[in-house]
Amino acid sequence: MSKRDYYEILEIERNANENEIKKAYRKMAIKHHPDKNPDDKSAEEKFKEAAEAYEVLSNPDKRARYDRYGHAGIGGAASGGGFGGSMSMDDIFSQFGDVFGGAFGGGFGGQRQRRRVNKGANLRVKVRLNLKDIANGAEKKIKVNKYVSCKPCDGSGADSGSSYSTCSTCNGSGHITQITNTFLGQMQTSSTCPSCGGEGRMITKKCTHCQGNGVVRDEEIIPLNIPAGVAEGMQLSVSGKGNAGARGGIPGDLIVLIEEEKHPELERDGDNLIHNLFISFPQAALGDQVEVPTIDGKARMKIQPGTQSGKVFRLKGKGLPNVNSYGTGDLLVNVNVWTPKNLSKEESKILGDFTHSENFKPNPSASEKSYFERMKDFFH
Ligand SMILES: [Zn+2]
Ligand SMILES: [Zn+2]
Repeated sequence: MSKRDYYEILEIERNANENEIKKAYRKMAIKHHPDKNPDDKSAEEKFKEAAEAYEVLSNPDKRARYDRYGHAGIGGAASGGGFGGSMSMDDIFSQFGDVFGGAFGGGFGGQRQRRRVNKGANLRVKVRLNLKDIANGAEKKIKVNKYVSCKPCDGSGADSGSSYSTCSTCNGSGHITQITNTFLGQMQTSSTCPSCGGEGRMITKKCTHCQGNGVVRDEEIIPLNIPAGVAEGMQLSVSGKGNAGARGGIPGDLIVLIEEEKHPELERDGDNLIHNLFISFPQAALGDQVEVPTIDGKARMKIQPGTQSGKVFRLKGKGLPNVNSYGTGDLLVNVNVWTPKNLSKEESKILGDFTHSENFKPNPSASEKSYFERMKDFFH
């Protein structure tokens, strides 16, 4: 789905001033407010869309970049899922609370506030893969040390289900509201309750196993399903497999960083593999059958008589599968003819006899001349 224009979302002119933007956002936010449109997913989407538009257009720097480069200018493309998806309703309220403060007065803002849910931290691990794993995809089991939900209290941190009291500071809402008088009138701001940390309740009797945290450190074996074609530096994210969240919170993600083990004979270039093959002068001149390494063994290859150094053979489909499944790369065999360095007397004599032979004089064809050009084609 392509993103809508921010000015269009807020229904304002492109030259709208700061105040007009704020007013327009307030109007949209009230119209599509989730409390006014319960269980209406499209209203929630519109509400978030308006918040995103406001976030950009209310910031002069971001607005200038948006005006110039569109959504790409403010990192919309880079952040993938985009802002709307990653920003929760609570984020929107805490970030733009000042806009709502005056508008929503007491009722609306207060009801809206949700109790804080603890999110566990993401966990990062490295996984080292060889070419075979990368070619075929791999199932790995990794052992990690992390926070897991405490079993005796089922992650609640409380000794039993009744070991709670409602937070008296915030009366269970998790937020405290302050009203300040400004020259514009009364402004209402809301912040996380300092007594309960936003959870809205306090534990009166803590679980002794986790001291009330709801989480304990433990080892866990996590199976990983690594798709074929991954490359060094790629990150895979396994949702919910990071650290458990405190006191009934939601777990973080497991972030897997891919590391590639070097293959002794095959070098990777994207989905292609490159092998540097050395052949002797007689093999090049007379032709031969040779073996070249592949990911899962060896392949036989025919060297035609008269093969030049620098020739590249392409073994179709013997490379790596593309991680996005756009086909499979090739194995490029790069021929190097080995020039002997130490010759016996007899060898020197035989070769010397050919010095003036017409057939031994270099006479490259146009295509053979352009070895350097061809190498450029392969690598760019
Ligand atoms: Zn509280
Ligand atoms: Zn516990």
